[in-house]
Amino acid sequence: MTRRALVIGGSLGGLIAAHLLRSTGWDAVVFERNDEELASRGVGLGTHPQLIGVLKRAGIDFDESMGITPTRAVCLDRNGKIIVERPTARTLSGWSRLYQALLDALPARSYRLGKRLTRVVQDADGATAFFADGTSERGDFLVGADGIRSAVRAQFLPDVQPRYAGYVAWRSVLDEADVPVELWREMVDLYAFCLPEGEQLISYAVPGCDNDTAVGHRAYNIVWYRPVDRDTLTDICTDAQGRHHAAGIPPPLIRRDVVERIKAAARASIAPQVAEIFARSAPFFQPIYDLASPQMVFGRAVLAGDAAFVARPHAGAGTTKAALDAACLADSIRHARDGSGHGNLDRGLERYQRMQLPFGKALVELNRAEGAYLSAQIKPKAERTAEELHRDIGAVVNAHIGRSDQVGAMVAAHGLDVHVNAPV
Ligand SMILES: Cc1cc2nc3c(=O)[nH]c(=O)nc-3n(C[C@H](O)[C@H](O)[C@H](O)COP(=O)(O)OP(=O)(O)OC[C@H]3O[C@@H](n4cnc5c(N)ncnc54)[C@H](O)[C@@H]3O)c2cc1C
Repeated sequence: MTRRALVIGGSLGGLIAAHLLRSTGWDAVVFERNDEELASRGVGLGTHPQLIGVLKRAGIDFDESMGITPTRAVCLDRNGKIIVERPTARTLSGWSRLYQALLDALPARSYRLGKRLTRVVQDADGATAFFADGTSERGDFLVGADGIRSAVRAQFLPDVQPRYAGYVAWRSVLDEADVPVELWREMVDLYAFCLPEGEQLISYAVPGCDNDTAVGHRAYNIVWYRPVDRDTLTDICTDAQGRHHAAGIPPPLIRRDVVERIKAAARASIAPQVAEIFARSAPFFQPIYDLASPQMVFGRAVLAGDAAFVARPHAGAGTTKAALDAACLADSIRHARDGSGHGNLDRGLERYQRMQLPFGKALVELNRAEGAYLSAQIKPKAERTAEELHRDIGAVVNAHIGRSDQVGAMVAAHGLDVHVNAPV
């Protein structure tokens, strides 16, 4: 009899998990709380070979239409002059490009919208998910791929909360058609850093809003990390009606004065080429958090992706980790055997936790270290260490160049490389 997996959360982590479980014989069904497909989350997404490998296992071929590969990593000074330059080869894709490809490859009946999980009830044989619309579903086990504010994690680990890192990421995407032609020509081939004191900005071209990488249809993506103390965070997360959005303010509700201030700050402190693109866009921000769960498996309910661990985005490996969680989960279940030689689900889930828990912790630590300089900016100068006071700009650019090797070494050190290219 086909066994059934309930996957809670229909973003990249949940979709990859559903594909890989299905490829190993499971009937995996995704339940997403939003009423509509999520394709409008049009921001850029850095990839690593391990993500591309797991996508391939999920049946998604990552050809040149999936991303854009700049050839030079540079740092631009306040006047727009290149002060550091290195070769680079990392492919930048778009969140919605990957989402659409994964969604299109899943049978429609296996992706259910408008299903907000409220509670999980489990026994020795399986788990039942209860949804806000009053319905419920039963499966042999349940995957909580429901992100940083996971309802599954809240039920099993109520004390584990995301910890604010002391800075936010301002993000913006502008269609190629809206970028002045000469600016586009100058920037399209660059992975460009701007590093004003205490801040970090990265910008690069990505597939356009219609997921197109053809000339004229691409987009320009900016991620700008800026220290923000708690009082200021409360202020900028408060909308024009005075309502505070503690879990993150939806982009359309960010107050006009907040947006005007950040555009003025861009003009004052970052390279004019990037400030110009930023000023023409509709920027929004995401507070940056660390989150590390001490446990990922609770009987027949498991955590995956950002629900279990949120690493700051510096290594650009959050989706790679979610993909590795999914691949390790599917393989662990498939390979676990009981005395009779049959698949033993509980043993498989135990193995999944044994493999992914240390990897998740290590990735959170790596990114915390990368962001330590930014976190320290909200402390008085006298309390900062030498590294927190001075940043080596060449080292920041070099870290980017070596990023995929670093992630690859970490994956290998945790014995997870077998999951990247394993046959389906
Ligand atoms: C500024 C920034 C830049 C980043 N850049 C990169 C990058 O370059 N490369 C990279 O790999 N990663 C990057 N990441 C990280 C990446 O976005 C995530 O790590 C990755 O997408 C994993 O997502 P997920 O599927 O686990 O969770 P999410 O994408 O958060 O998805 C969770 C899903 O669950 C749904 N959900 C939540 N609660 C419920 C519920 N109760 N019932 C049903 N559904 C529910 C949500 O609606 C959502 O669709 C970045 C993150 C940030 C903040």
